[in-house]
Amino acid sequence: MPADLTPVPDAPATTPVADNGTGPPRPPVPELTLSHVTKVYRARRRTPDSRPDQRRVVAVNDVSFSIAPGAAVGLVGASGSGKSTLAGMITGSQRPTDGSIRFGAVAVERLRAGGLRRLHHQVQMVFQDPYSALNPLHTVEYTLTRPCQNFLGMSGAQARERVAELLETVGLTPASQFAPKLPHQLSGGQRQRVLIARALASEPTLIVADEPVSMLDVSLRAGVLNLLADLRRDRGLSLLYITHDLLSARVITDELLVLYRGQVVEQGATKEVLQHPDHPYTRQLIGAVANPFAAAHGAIPSTDRETT
Ligand code: ADP
Ligand code: MG
Repeated sequence: MPADLTPVPDAPATTPVADNGTGPPRPPVPELTLSHVTKVYRARRRTPDSRPDQRRVVAVNDVSFSIAPGAAVGLVGASGSGKSTLAGMITGSQRPTDGSIRFGAVAVERLRAGGLRRLHHQVQMVFQDPYSALNPLHTVEYTLTRPCQNFLGMSGAQARERVAELLETVGLTPASQFAPKLPHQLSGGQRQRVLIARALASEPTLIVADEPVSMLDVSLRAGVLNLLADLRRDRGLSLLYITHDLLSARVITDELLVLYRGQVVEQGATKEVLQHPDHPYTRQLIGAVANPFAAAHGAIPSTDRETT
């Protein structure tokens, strides 16, 4: 067994997914567990005399949480609070400075190229920007065929058949009309659906969606959110839904984590957190929903971290 897939002692259990009776049985969905995860960046700025800047930004500070098999967890926080850094560490594109990330028995922070490929079979990301995440020269069919071939070992013909299924799943029908299109021929909402289809292609068990609707026109947001909610329910997927928008998190998640300056300041059942927020920052977020002008005058400082 490769070193980076060595089971970790006391790894959390996995839970078999309810089988709907069609197709081969699905593999169990592993639990994701973050323990004391910290990420420190070197500051991006240069000093005025253009010497390298030694200051550091603690983007994520001692964060621990887990996502049970099939759970939908919301990670809510303002811009700069560390959400995307956490997403990057969970999907293995960034390494924590400290702490551990377990996906079932796999130590994500130790994975190298081969291990990451196997991880991405199971853990997929949907990014914020549906405009930059698609190659402008690739048709929808090409974009979706590749993960079917790479992750599932399908032949070209099998993959094309699956592309049609995936397009149907994300509501881009008739599939034959969308498959030959290039990204510039699609609206933002349609592109985001293609990206969700691409994320689904490898049959993942966890989807990390980093502000998936924040760049979409308001009128398209509910459709994409409902799609994610349906997929998670129908497929027994786990979902980490990252947002700065409490209202959307209320619709799609069962549990909430509130991130403030790199730290989880509040967590619990979504309804409970929204009805009885403990932390002043959570109250401010809720207040901002009720009164969009309140946040600008709130007592809680912005989350943009001073470098130290
Ligand atoms: P969010 O997604 O919540 O907006 P990020 O995770 O992108 O927050 O950023 C958290 C903090 O880390 C911010 O202060 C940001 O400026 C800093 N940061 C993010 N990426 C880098 C990087 N590659 N180098 C230096 N600082 C970074
Ligand atoms: Mg972000």
